[in-house]
Amino acid sequence: MFILTLMASTALSNCQADLGNYEVTYLSERQFKIEAQYSEPYTEFHLGHSPTNDRPEAQSESVHNIIAYDVSGGKIDIAYAGNGSWAAPKGAIRISYELSADHDEVLWPHGADEVAHPFGGGYYFTGTAFFIGPDWNANSCPVNISFNTPEGWALTAPWADGPLTGTAKSIEDLQDNGFAIGPFTDSTQRVGNLTLNSLFDPTIEPVVRPYVDKVMDDLLPAFAEYFGGAPSADYTTFHFAYGSSDGSAFARSFTMQYEWPLNTAERLIWAHGLAHETMHLWTGVVERADLENEWFLEGFTDYLAIKHLYREGYYDDYQLRNLLASIVTRHQLGYRLSQGTSLREAGSNKGQNWFLIYGSGALIALMLDAEMSAIEPHAFDDMMATLYQNGKQEYDFERLMSFMDQHSNGRAQEIFDAVDGGLSPNEINAVLNPRGISVAGRMDLSYLSFTGKCRKKNNCAPEFLKKSKK
Ligand SMILES: [Zn+2]
Repeated sequence: MFILTLMASTALSNCQADLGNYEVTYLSERQFKIEAQYSEPYTEFHLGHSPTNDRPEAQSESVHNIIAYDVSGGKIDIAYAGNGSWAAPKGAIRISYELSADHDEVLWPHGADEVAHPFGGGYYFTGTAFFIGPDWNANSCPVNISFNTPEGWALTAPWADGPLTGTAKSIEDLQDNGFAIGPFTDSTQRVGNLTLNSLFDPTIEPVVRPYVDKVMDDLLPAFAEYFGGAPSADYTTFHFAYGSSDGSAFARSFTMQYEWPLNTAERLIWAHGLAHETMHLWTGVVERADLENEWFLEGFTDYLAIKHLYREGYYDDYQLRNLLASIVTRHQLGYRLSQGTSLREAGSNKGQNWFLIYGSGALIALMLDAEMSAIEPHAFDDMMATLYQNGKQEYDFERLMSFMDQHSNGRAQEIFDAVDGGLSPNEINAVLNPRGISVAGRMDLSYLSFTGKCRKKNNCAPEFLKKSKK
C-alpha cells in the first residue's frame, strides 16, 4: 500500500482571489475536455509523473491538444518539457486540453489506483493524472471545479460540494486526492466531525459494501475513543475491482482495490487495509518535515491497525499471533533485502525498502508498547493519544523521538537503535518473552505464542494487546 510522499504543505494564505476554475466536459467514452482559467498567469504546469516502460512520459501521454492563452485572450505557445511538465514562456492565464482515460492499458508502478481506472460505467482518477495545474507552492488558494456530464452522473470527491461541482482548498488538494465521476451513489458515515463518503464499484458492492460498512462502523468510534477525538475532515474512499488487491492513501481520500474474482477469504485482508488506511487519519498528525519518519508513519499505523482489529474481535488469538509473527518476519526480510539501509534513510525509497519500513516500524511499536505497558498499563496508548491531541504538526526524526522518549523514559530511542541494527528472533524473544510473547524463527518464518497461563481458546493475549479497561 503506497502512500504518496508529499513535501509541500498547505500554507494558509490570505487569498485575494481563487486560484482558478476547472471546467470538465465528458466528450465520449474515455474522452474528457478540461478548460482551466486562472486568476494570474503561470509559465509552468504539471501532472504527476510515474514513468513505466510502456509509457515513458507517464500520465502526460494521456493529454492531447493542449492550448494556452495569454491575458488578452490570444493563443500562445505551450510545450511539453518532460517529467510531467509543460512550459508556456509568455505566461498562460487559460489552458485547455483533452484527456484520454486510457491509463488502464498499461501497468503502473504503484497501481492503477494512483492513476486512473474506469468502473461501473464511470471513471476513477487521481487529481495528479487529470488536472494539469501550476506548482503547489505557486498559490495555495481555492480551486473551483465543475463537470458537464450525461444525465444521472455524480461526482464523488473529498472536495465535492454539489452533485457536479466542487471547491478544492488548493491545487494540492485537487491533485493529491482521488475523485470519481459516473452514474454513482456514495454512502456516508460520521463520527464526530469526521465525515466519510464511500463509493463502491457495482461489481463488488453487494459483497464488499456491507462488510466495509460494518468494519468502519466498528473502527471509527473505536479509533476516536482510543485517541480521545477524531479529526475534523471530509474524507472519501473508493472501492473497485481490479486484477490485484492494493490500496493507496492521499491527502483526504484512499482507495481499496479488490482482486477480481473476489475471494471472500480475503475479508480479513480488506479489514486490515481499511484499518491501516483509516488509522492514517489519526497518525497523520505527524506531518512530514522530511522522509525520516516513514518507519513510524507506516509501522506504528500498521501495528495499531492490528491491535484494534484484535480488540474489536476481527482477529482471534490465532490470527493475532500470525499477524504479530509476520511483523517479526518482515523485519528479518527487510533487514536482509535493504542491505544496511538505515531506517531513517529507508523512507526516501519506500518501494525499495518496503519490508524494512513496515516490519521494523511495527516491531518498534510492538516492543515499545510491551515495555511501556509493563511499567504502567496503557502508557503506550496514552502516549499515542497525547500525540494525537497535540494536533497536526511537522515532525523531523529528532522531534518525534524526543516526544516518545519523554513518555517512555528513553526506551523509544533504545528500542529504535536495537531494531535499526537488526534483531534476530531470539533477541526479539529476549525482550518480548517477559512481556508475555514468545518468539522463535529464522529469516523467512516466525513462530509466536502467548506465554501467560490461559485455558481459554481466545483472549489470551497479554493485557496490553487487549481492549483497554480504563
Ligand atoms: Zn500506510
